[in-house]
Amino acid sequence: MNIHKKWNRKYKRLIFVSILFLITAVLCTSAAVIYRKVSARTVTNISRVYLQEMTTQISSHFQTNLNSQFSQIYTISNAISENDLKDEESLKHFLAQAQKDNDFTHIALINSKGIAYSPDGTVPALSKISNLDKLLDGSEKLISVNESIWESNTILLGTAMTPVSFQDGRLIAVIVGIHTSDIGVKLGLDSEKDTNSYTNIVTRNGDFVMKSGFSEEILQGTNLFTIYEQQVDFDEGYDYESFRAAIAAGKSGLTLMTVGGQHVYLYYVPIQGTDWYMITSMAYETVNDQIVYLSQFMVALSVGIFIILFSTVSAFFLLLSHREKRNRELLLMEKERAESANRAKSNFLSQMSHEIRTPLNGIMGMVELGKNHLAEPERMRNCLDKITLSSTHLLSLINDILDMSKIESGKIELHPEQFDLGRLLRALTTVFHVQAISKQIDFQVFLHGEVEEYLVGDALRLNQILTNLLSNAVKFTPAQGHVSLNVEELRRDEYWIWVRFSVRDTGRGIAPENIDSVFEAFTQENSGIVRQYGGTGLGLPITKNFAELMGGSISVSSEVGAGSTFTVDLPFAPAAVGRDTERCGNGQRVLVVNQVTELEKHLAYMLAKENFQVDSVSGEEDALHKIRAAVQSGTPYELCFIKWNISVDMRLFVQVIRKEAKNAGLIIILTGQDQDELNDTASLCGADATLCRPVFHSDIAELMAELTGQKSVQPEQEISTVLAGAQVMVVEDNDINLEIAVALLQDAGAFVTTAANGQEAVAQFSGAPEGFYHLILMDVQMPVMDGCSAAQAIRALPRQDAKSTVIIAMTANSFNEDVQKCLDSGMNAHIGKPFVMNDIIDTYTKVLQKQVEK
Ligand code: ADP
Repeated sequence: MNIHKKWNRKYKRLIFVSILFLITAVLCTSAAVIYRKVSARTVTNISRVYLQEMTTQISSHFQTNLNSQFSQIYTISNAISENDLKDEESLKHFLAQAQKDNDFTHIALINSKGIAYSPDGTVPALSKISNLDKLLDGSEKLISVNESIWESNTILLGTAMTPVSFQDGRLIAVIVGIHTSDIGVKLGLDSEKDTNSYTNIVTRNGDFVMKSGFSEEILQGTNLFTIYEQQVDFDEGYDYESFRAAIAAGKSGLTLMTVGGQHVYLYYVPIQGTDWYMITSMAYETVNDQIVYLSQFMVALSVGIFIILFSTVSAFFLLLSHREKRNRELLLMEKERAESANRAKSNFLSQMSHEIRTPLNGIMGMVELGKNHLAEPERMRNCLDKITLSSTHLLSLINDILDMSKIESGKIELHPEQFDLGRLLRALTTVFHVQAISKQIDFQVFLHGEVEEYLVGDALRLNQILTNLLSNAVKFTPAQGHVSLNVEELRRDEYWIWVRFSVRDTGRGIAPENIDSVFEAFTQENSGIVRQYGGTGLGLPITKNFAELMGGSISVSSEVGAGSTFTVDLPFAPAAVGRDTERCGNGQRVLVVNQVTELEKHLAYMLAKENFQVDSVSGEEDALHKIRAAVQSGTPYELCFIKWNISVDMRLFVQVIRKEAKNAGLIIILTGQDQDELNDTASLCGADATLCRPVFHSDIAELMAELTGQKSVQPEQEISTVLAGAQVMVVEDNDINLEIAVALLQDAGAFVTTAANGQEAVAQFSGAPEGFYHLILMDVQMPVMDGCSAAQAIRALPRQDAKSTVIIAMTANSFNEDVQKCLDSGMNAHIGKPFVMNDIIDTYTKVLQKQVEK
């Protein structure tokens, strides 16, 4: 289906491109044909436009220059001073100077009688200049050619002037002569050289006013029209008569002809302000060359534009299709991701349901079994133990799910507090030591160097992180394997102490391609793992989230078949109590037996730091030898630390050591990881004390205090006293929970009354005498009236004990806002469900203490 669609798309695209190409090709071909057809007409039209433009320009140039000549002549007439008019000599001198300055061929002043005064002398001019009488009669300007006053080929320009008296007449006009050979330069006509054309100026009769040098060679004669009439073949459509008629009518136009063997275009235009015509001709080849060049340029331009257009459209189209493809891929990827997330979630659900059902089955089965053996206490205890185990497992599963949903909804919160890292690690050690033994795995907790004991951070989350990592390590490591938790202080500054926790195992390892996804929620390496090891795939994502929430990070390195190392770096604030810098030892000699591996040497390291003189030995023989030598040297050992599970019989070894020491004062201390085991072995073999790893400064301090009899005896827990005799009301709508709470409280010596909802609780409290109730344990979610409303109602009652009676909320909702809601309603504290008796006692005690402090 998909392939079919793809083909369809490709096919459509191909058709589109082909049509585009075809249309462009057809357009180009038609353009070429039309171009050919119109080209002849176009050539003429273009020539006309071209020549018209050129001739008009030359003509306007000519006129401008002519005007400038006239203004020069005016200037001369105005420049005549009285001095110049003193006598004929002075006038001649003036005129000669003016002629020279202005580069004129001739110059003369005319008086009212028609006499011309020139630098060469005086001549009567009237008969020699055809239109002079008009000028004398007041006409402003005169332009003519070939007047007999001067030689032929001379243009005459004349203008009236402000009359001045001279001798017996009045000078009233200035005339100048410019030789036609100078006219090109003088009147700006030399541009013909640049344009490969030539320009002639003729009178309306065809007499040359100015004949270009080139025309001189091919146009033999003095009248252009006579030449055209006799020497020229007009092209078809043009003839001599029309040409003459156009000129006679003062029109401008184009004609084509062959003259002197050359095919030329001819453009004629009247020169404004004169009676003359400017006729420009240009060789056909030149025009054609220009046009061919122009059309070639146009074709090249069109082809270029076409290529650019085509490339742009194609590029646009390609880009569009590329983007469309990319979008499709992204959509597909998105879809796949969503599907895979969905798959992971449904796998997770079925896995989860399996995980929850297993302990639930266990609980139900054991309850059933217990019912059948009510009279057999041993069997009954066994069933109850298993029920406890399954419930704990179930609770941790549910906690995981809740944690994950809190993480996903961004509701997870940290509760930083001061805690004892040593105590936390020892509790973990105890739990995993037992698990490791049952799986025949070697499990060790190692400290590297000195590690700060009291820190501020979220101990609960740290515990969860380490528990998750250690559970996995133990789960994925086969019998005879090794699992270790390594703790070291990385660095510290004024505000933070960075601690590194590494969990190493020699288990199955993780394949490199899966290593990144183990931190993704609902993901396990493969389904085989689920079948073999169970699990939800939530542990590591939760761990990673916690670590990052605490400001730290987690990483993993692993090799399939060799094992994995998960490393968590976390920052903690230093505790307010600070580090106890007082050293426990005062130079006593100490022997450490069988703590020999690099990591086990930590005890020796710590003892040396505490100011003991430490010797370490690896075997029993060496130990005895050392003790003997010490006695002989007069400086016997005072303390001897022995790892509890050395190979020889512990009882025998301790006896032998004591004998060798010859000193009843040698204190023998057993070291190990499990306090119960240590206690059992110590009492069996007669050791003096025990020391449970991992060892911090305070452990050595406590041991020394214990040995020297300084250890303060811990006060007995006040379980029995705090609640003994107290009147407690339990408000709870769930019968089973109510029963459990009542039974536990009664065991602790309390007198218990119950209420099934808030309303009943308020009624009972109101009905009781003042000061009757010491404590009310209030469920929050209840029918009729919820816990918060009930607490508010009780606090609002007009009686002495309404404010003082302790009310503690019991709720399964343990988000900060839930706790705050309880406190706002007037309750004193909050405990989360499920709870144990100690939680009630601890919370109640704290509330009482606070009330006393107030
Ligand atoms: P769970 O263990 O409940 O399935 P986790 O999130 O803790 O979930 O672990 C996810 C997956 O990571 C495990 O299913 C396993 O495939 C892999 N894994 C985690 N820790 C280890 C380890 N120490 N050795 C080998 N594989 C591990």
